[in-house]
Amino acid sequence: MRQIDHFMVGGPDTSAARKHQVWNPSTGEVQAEVALGDTALLEQAVATAKQVQPAWAATNPQKRARVMFKFKELIEANMQELAELLSSEHGKVIDDAKGDVQRGLEVIEFACGIPQVLKGEYTQGAGPGIDVYSMRQPLGIGAGITPFNFPAMIPMWMFGMAIAAGNAFILKPSERDPSVPVRLAELFVEAGAPEGLLQVVHGDKAMVDAIIEHPDIPAISFVGSSDIAHYIYHRGAEHGKRVQAFGGAKNHGIVMPDADLDQVVNDLAGAAFGSAGERCMALPVVVPVGEDTADRLREKLIPAINALRIGVSTDPDAHYGPVVTPEHKARIEQWITTAEEEGAEIVVDGRGFSLQGHENGFFVGPTLIDRVTPQMASYQEEIFGPVLQIVRAKDFEDAVRLPSEHQYGNGVAIFTRNGHAAREFASRVNVGMVGINVPIPVPVSYHTFGGWKRSGFGDVDQYGTEGLQFWTKKKKVTQRWPDGGGDGSNAFVIPTMG
Ligand code: NAD
Repeated sequence: MRQIDHFMVGGPDTSAARKHQVWNPSTGEVQAEVALGDTALLEQAVATAKQVQPAWAATNPQKRARVMFKFKELIEANMQELAELLSSEHGKVIDDAKGDVQRGLEVIEFACGIPQVLKGEYTQGAGPGIDVYSMRQPLGIGAGITPFNFPAMIPMWMFGMAIAAGNAFILKPSERDPSVPVRLAELFVEAGAPEGLLQVVHGDKAMVDAIIEHPDIPAISFVGSSDIAHYIYHRGAEHGKRVQAFGGAKNHGIVMPDADLDQVVNDLAGAAFGSAGERCMALPVVVPVGEDTADRLREKLIPAINALRIGVSTDPDAHYGPVVTPEHKARIEQWITTAEEEGAEIVVDGRGFSLQGHENGFFVGPTLIDRVTPQMASYQEEIFGPVLQIVRAKDFEDAVRLPSEHQYGNGVAIFTRNGHAAREFASRVNVGMVGINVPIPVPVSYHTFGGWKRSGFGDVDQYGTEGLQFWTKKKKVTQRWPDGGGDGSNAFVIPTMG
């Protein structure tokens, strides 16, 4: 059985460690085991990070950027290998896996510009002979705790910014698909990063708690489900840490009566079902405005959904592959049953789907559920599968209210030809990221990413200059250099209190 180990200097002996099984979701077979770390292992990782970080922070930003440039080249050169590894553990198709790597790579590209964005502020002559300036200094050691659904992108969002800013980084990726983060760390060393600057420690709650409690880790970035995000935010703050914690989502797509429905159906095929719906920016809820819009949309959606091709993750013609684990498949199917019991109408039923030749794979058929209402638990909670729910809105006001009042506030989209309606919607909706005729509005790497309400705890977003803000602290210097008196002696006396 393939063993997946931590990525640390002088890697510890993990033969007696607890192990977690890593599936191949397409075949339903266990393909590897990953060692789960404990407090002692984290202690070792922190000791290494403390050794290497000061020299890295003292390396000038241009030299740090050169490592980032080289890392970018290596990722591009290894794109196919990374995508195949990712796809085999996650189950997303190869093109989606490449997208996963690519969207992380774009943050590395932004991090290549670290000399420019690290420049501080300067005021000359803030008082007589007095100047004020600020500088951004690294925190020391940053930690990242990441979810299974973007095993390349989200780690790179975090460590790209943190390390470019001068920190060492300890990454605790999802134990469900841990190989790509390790591979990225190997490539980072190949790019010229000092060993120990980026370490990968595997684990579950025990490791997360050790990170939260460690006094030498001042900042944690988390992405995952909301209850755990809230737990980490709360416990991290108790330990005096800076924490950003991004949680679950239930993104709505508003369809106005004037929308181009063929385009909407095409967008929904990708946004609701791509990656088997296992995306925090997926669109699992569609909100047609008015009964007529709803009926027309439903009529077009049914054949489009029935035409979706489900396949193993290496099938180049598949729209989407299996979901990540057998437990997750069961959970998604249970949500469809709950929706049915709550009185919603199952229009296309993906339960019990089996792929010929791969009967043990974790496949869920595409599902369309109509007549969903805001009171239903299946609407309120995240399903995270290839399931699209239709919630019929009476009018525009109703359509603004639904996503605004939902517990999650990650993303939302509106489809319309009416600029005024779109503008009004974008300004009023209580959600962090808005798409106007764009189904998955993930902002580019030089803007930033972050949801609201239970989709994001903390006040600083993920990447771009906000990422830099999160991984650095700002020092403010007020300086005065009095005239030495012209005789070569320095007449200036350091002022004392009192
Ligand atoms: P998860 O919350 O189960 O796991 C995330 C991380 O937390 C993993 O590293 C895991 O090992 C760790 N963890 C698991 N249980 C824990 C516990 N009890 N205590 C402490 N740590 C624990 O999430 P997941 O299933 O891997 O990922 C899917 C979730 O992530 C979805 O809810 C999705 O919406 C969300 N997500 C959000 C964003 C965003 O930016 N808002 C992006 C991607 C995914």
